[in-house]
Amino acid sequence: MDIPRTDWIWHNGHLVKWDEATVHVSAHALHYGSSVFEGLRLYDTPAGPAVFQLNAHVRRLLDSCRILRMQLSYSADEIASAIIETVRRNRLKSGYIRPLAYRGAGPIALDARSAPTELAIFAFEFGPYLGRAGLEQGVDVMVSSWRRMAPDTLASMSKAGGNYLNSQFIAMEAADLGFREGIALDVNGLVSEGSGENIFVVYRGAIYTPPVGASILMGITRDCVLRLAQELGHEVRQEAFPREMLYVADEIFFTGTAVEISPVRSVDKIPVGDGRRGPITASIQDAFFGILNGKLPDRHGWLTLVES
Ligand code: PMP
Repeated sequence: MDIPRTDWIWHNGHLVKWDEATVHVSAHALHYGSSVFEGLRLYDTPAGPAVFQLNAHVRRLLDSCRILRMQLSYSADEIASAIIETVRRNRLKSGYIRPLAYRGAGPIALDARSAPTELAIFAFEFGPYLGRAGLEQGVDVMVSSWRRMAPDTLASMSKAGGNYLNSQFIAMEAADLGFREGIALDVNGLVSEGSGENIFVVYRGAIYTPPVGASILMGITRDCVLRLAQELGHEVRQEAFPREMLYVADEIFFTGTAVEISPVRSVDKIPVGDGRRGPITASIQDAFFGILNGKLPDRHGWLTLVES
């Protein structure tokens, strides 16, 4: 799916027309991957359109900049306001929001800290990434032959453009072999994450997810799910586990802004559990989507109304 056009894009402090939000070919980020970005969801809640986990995403964008030594000339509050303004001006009710900070035109050097850091924000309509059926029936995935980058090579805690070359290899391999997604192992051969989502496994009543040291992105949906699972009384462990855990798991699900909470139906053609969404996955989905559709109170303050 190509990105649906909207009227306005926020670019370096101003809303400009879609066609005017351009970058020069000499921009450092285009050559060397020196960009950082976020993906947020806008939900059409009963109280009106609301951005999910706005502050957490802005904080992670600033953390990503800090890791890459990128100086943004906007505060967290200014970025949050710019996100809201972009949604409002485009009159979106639900969708996906993409803030992107990047090193612009500057020296041809690798250390380009003297280049300006630019910021763009666009937003567009976007439904369930894997479709409604994906949320219920789950997806078929494979363990990738590509590993996540070792912790002393790239910085997986930063959502940096350059990191996503690794994700592209994982996603292309999975697509070529007829799978919906690939799961990467880390440098130690233990489970890390999908190309664009975190992974959770239910095994003998406990819920496992790889720790930050397993070259994962610290997902914001992962954080929400850890919280919801604990509230539902589940035992939750952030700990490293091997590939074969995926073959004996009772349930597996992905978490991410795009995929939300999506069950995994099979791994390497081996059905997960009985090949259908399991009860723990369903209960966490209910707790999550209940907050978004207003059936449950937003008790953690995860939603920011666009018109407040
Ligand atoms: N891992 C990777 C590599 C991702 O790209 C994403 C999507 N941002 C995630 C995990 C999930 O993170 P979040 O829940 O914050 O979207």
